[in-house]
Amino acid sequence: MKCRDYIFQLTSGQLEDAGTATQIAAWQHRMVCFRCRAFTRNDQALQGLLKGYSEHIQAPQHPAAKPADK
Ligand SMILES: [Zn+2]
Repeated sequence: MKCRDYIFQLTSGQLEDAGTATQIAAWQHRMVCFRCRAFTRNDQALQGLLKGYSEHIQAPQHPAAKPADK
């Protein structure tokens, strides 16, 4: 597996759905290629940030508070 293939599969999400052979190849590539290892870490950190952000912007807004009965 080449860096280009690895990055493409990772960023397109194909790696998650890939078969065992591809996942092993990806794992082996990460073991030998520090650039892709660093990229994977950054990508996962970014995914985490984006996920948190999308949950933040999709969270329902608090409805306007009704006047409380006294
Ligand atoms: Zn690589």
